[in-house]
Amino acid sequence: MKETVFINSDQKNNGAEVTEFAGAKLNLTLDVLSKREDGYHDMVMVMQTISLGDRLVLRTSDKPGIRVSTSFRYVPNDERNLGYKAAKEFLQAVGDEQRGIEIHMEKTIPVGAGMAGGSADAAAVLRGMNRLLDTRMRREELEKLAERVGSDVAFCIAGGTSLARGRGELLEDLPPMPECFLVVCKPGFSISTPELFRKIDRMNVRSHPDTEGMIKAIGAGDLREMAIRMYNVFEDVDDRRIRSIAEIKGVLLDHGALGAVMTGTGSAVFGLFHEEENARSCCEVLGKNYSFCRIAVPTGKQAFPE
Ligand code: ATP
Repeated sequence: MKETVFINSDQKNNGAEVTEFAGAKLNLTLDVLSKREDGYHDMVMVMQTISLGDRLVLRTSDKPGIRVSTSFRYVPNDERNLGYKAAKEFLQAVGDEQRGIEIHMEKTIPVGAGMAGGSADAAAVLRGMNRLLDTRMRREELEKLAERVGSDVAFCIAGGTSLARGRGELLEDLPPMPECFLVVCKPGFSISTPELFRKIDRMNVRSHPDTEGMIKAIGAGDLREMAIRMYNVFEDVDDRRIRSIAEIKGVLLDHGALGAVMTGTGSAVFGLFHEEENARSCCEVLGKNYSFCRIAVPTGKQAFPE
């Protein structure tokens, strides 16, 4: 068996294999401003990466081409996989298209949850390739490549706490959010992102999140002020499945969450807790009715070569 060399992100590549963690994303706020001429929507979002995520192993191989495998049977292994797309972009950018790369994704992030699972994997592939091939691209260069792969990929490159605008690619770093515990719960169904955008286009969005207030609360390290500003405009869409999400929010709030909100286009919902004990007992209760329920903490920004 080949020996596995685990390398930390701050070390140089000294082997043929690296591991990379792909942290999931949560939306503390999500606002949709308008539909653009190119068909995309202008959004404003406060995003946060968390300690729950996928583990990727990237390996160089003598056999040219990109090969992807995942632990979830229903996630594609071909060019439809965002990690595959990211590897292809990376090899093109460095002019090494004949290179053989094997990528294995040990998935934890549920699919169709609004937790940017595919985007987190794509960003982890870009960071991992940078280390594996010792290309020493800077964060900005990786983010440029990421934009070509998908909307949330640029944010997932550095992660941490950020304000994202446009399609999600115009990023501003925010201070790290205060220590807390997050209970993330996904109901059995997924919500179709295009369908939700079509529905929001047809309605008059009446309430918008207080994004500025959220940024101030993060700056002040005030968890309570943050929690009351967690808001996602997609929760106002008239959809039977979204209404059922209110039930999970109710359980989160009843168990001491300071706030609870749906992330992205759903269907995952999360609650923000000050006390670990409350988060644990809430997770236990939700776990009886929902197969995906986990505790996580917010994570900080990745380190990059100077
Ligand atoms: P987002 O917050 O980005 O909208 P999501 O939870 O709605 O996230 P994903 O979980 O990223 O969406 O997956 C959506 C689609 O992307 C699925 O249909 C899946 O087949 C495809 N996909 C492509 N690559 C991956 C990957 N590496 N992991 C999971 N899904 C992937």
